[in-house]
Amino acid sequence: MNILVTNDDGVHAPGLWALAEALQACGDVTVVAPDRDQSGIGAAMTLLDVVRAREIEPQSPGIRTFSVEGTPADCVILATETLVDGGFDFVVSGINRGANLGLDIMNSGTLGSAFQGFFRGIRSIAMSVTSLSAADFDPAARTAASLVGAIAENGIEAPLLLNVNLPNVPTAQMEQARLTLLGPRVYAESVEYVSDARRSHYWIRHNKPLDADVSEGTDAWATRNKCVSITPVDAIFANGVGPRDLGCLAEAVNSALGLN
Ligand code: MN
Repeated sequence: MNILVTNDDGVHAPGLWALAEALQACGDVTVVAPDRDQSGIGAAMTLLDVVRAREIEPQSPGIRTFSVEGTPADCVILATETLVDGGFDFVVSGINRGANLGLDIMNSGTLGSAFQGFFRGIRSIAMSVTSLSAADFDPAARTAASLVGAIAENGIEAPLLLNVNLPNVPTAQMEQARLTLLGPRVYAESVEYVSDARRSHYWIRHNKPLDADVSEGTDAWATRNKCVSITPVDAIFANGVGPRDLGCLAEAVNSALGLN
């Protein structure tokens, strides 16, 4: 199985390498990721400039790695179209530092790259942890490997696009993995005005909590209640996603993380 791993936090981000190493148990892993943090860039692609890519030393042995001066979407476009022969069975993006819940997926570079896999008929998964500071990516890495394994074993074919978020607690405190619905937008932007004597500038921060109606069964509800949230996003964007039972995916994650 050929697995493309990418992210929006940059090719040196620890979450990317936790993910890539865990997925080596599932197949051949190739990393193609932006050379810098591209969080918030969404599904943007570079059309008005050149895009440079270079193969670099992998952080873990046996993982061919490319660093791209471009967006997360550019990385998937280059990986699938030209950098790597043989095609991919999965695109897995992350593990993002910070949640990607509800309509925030429209801003997310983690989702932006997963969309590119999905557009190309490749089963794609976006992985995020809700903490901005957490260093422990291990549960999310194990979650990703269990999902890839369960999707392959159960013959779940494209179109498939999953948005997965883990709560910021140790696995001992996690509740069950759940299939969820995309929730409302839970954050808006705050803008800081800074005057630096001669000129001024602004900082846009995506950190203003909204008083959204977070109803049971949504992704935001799940992570607030310490559940692993698995949102099948494909049904929103693709025609022809018929009724399917993805319960095996939640079961696989529960088993991998010891949740019950
Ligand atoms: Mn990010």
